[in-house]
Amino acid sequence: MKRNHIPFNWPHMTGKELDHIAEAHQNGRLAGDGPFTAKCHGWLEESTGCQKALLTHSCTAALEMIALLLDIRPGDEVIMPSYTFVSTANAFVLRGGVPVFVDIREDTLNLDESLIEAAITSRTRAIAVVHYAGVACEMDQIMAIADKHGLAVVEDAAQGVMASYKGRPLGSIGQLGAYSFHETKNVISGEGGALLVNDPALSLRAEIIREKGTDRSRFFRGEVDKYTWQDVGSSFLPGELIAAFLWAQLEESVRITQARLIAWQRYHDLLEDLEVSGWLRRPVVPQGCVHNAHMYYVVLSPEVDRQFVLDSFRSASVASVFHYVPLHSSPAGLRYARAHGELEVTVSQSERLVRLPLWVGLSETQQDHVIDVLRTAIREGRRD
Ligand SMILES: *Cc1c(COP(=O)(O)O)cnc(C)c1O
Repeated sequence: MKRNHIPFNWPHMTGKELDHIAEAHQNGRLAGDGPFTAKCHGWLEESTGCQKALLTHSCTAALEMIALLLDIRPGDEVIMPSYTFVSTANAFVLRGGVPVFVDIREDTLNLDESLIEAAITSRTRAIAVVHYAGVACEMDQIMAIADKHGLAVVEDAAQGVMASYKGRPLGSIGQLGAYSFHETKNVISGEGGALLVNDPALSLRAEIIREKGTDRSRFFRGEVDKYTWQDVGSSFLPGELIAAFLWAQLEESVRITQARLIAWQRYHDLLEDLEVSGWLRRPVVPQGCVHNAHMYYVVLSPEVDRQFVLDSFRSASVASVFHYVPLHSSPAGLRYARAHGELEVTVSQSERLVRLPLWVGLSETQQDHVIDVLRTAIREGRRD
């Protein structure tokens, strides 16, 4: 880390990663689905209550498995926010599916459940929700809408590890959920992810799709005497070295989350006055949602010039970023998807959002500096 530079993210290591990797090396078992993968699966199943957890290369891979599991066909529509990472949409587009973007709520920036029903057509197959910043979508209402119309619910819980909705871990509520262990997330393995299967009818097929379309997992369990090509599939599983690394992180996931929550709360307390005076709004965590401090963002008031704020951070050597360029207005989104309505909230919020550095080990001094820079930038960047 360069002196005086505050990075946006700094991957936290628990100290056990290399020990576990050495053990995997010693075991001589390097391919996927070895003992460390089994530990990770057990942890995920126990802590989320999902029917079956399967490690994947990435959350992107888990979402691609989901599109295969749901048999998404050309022309099938999947309702989702435009304010999300590309993988939510790409997974379905790869199968010929059509993302239908619905606007988000102004408070949580999650899919606006009150707008979903009007976007349902005879081609709609699924609702893909994204739990932005580890804060849950309004799942009771979304599940009820899906039930009423016979749709599947997919949870892109890439940002939602260790977060919950009314006591239920994110990723375990819809038929299928996807986690990310990418370096920029809370619990990490460099690249990595998991598929959570909650509908028992899908779990055997999930194993087959993940193992190149074969029943190799059943063969390993001694349930069949040879394994054969059963279905479509690909290679979606990570090797054991990745699982060994991830196991060190999962073991410490409570502590990692606690440390992030402390930094998150400190930003939240110190920025209250700027919200009271109307210069920005802070994240909202609705009742019943337990979040995981995946990110701290502020939405600047329209009177504040965001570019000026971002430039001020850059000159002060603070790495802050914004996201997402809404998918409906990006080149591939225009080609492969369609928007339901004007998506006014998506457009206005995405133009005003700024993310602040947040990682385990971010010091109070560093946080104070970030806030000082933000305060000065808001004072000097007012468009009045
Ligand atoms: C990070 C992220 C992904 C992709 O995760 P990978 O593990 O990098 O594939 C997908 N969706 C959302 C909402 C994300 O934040």
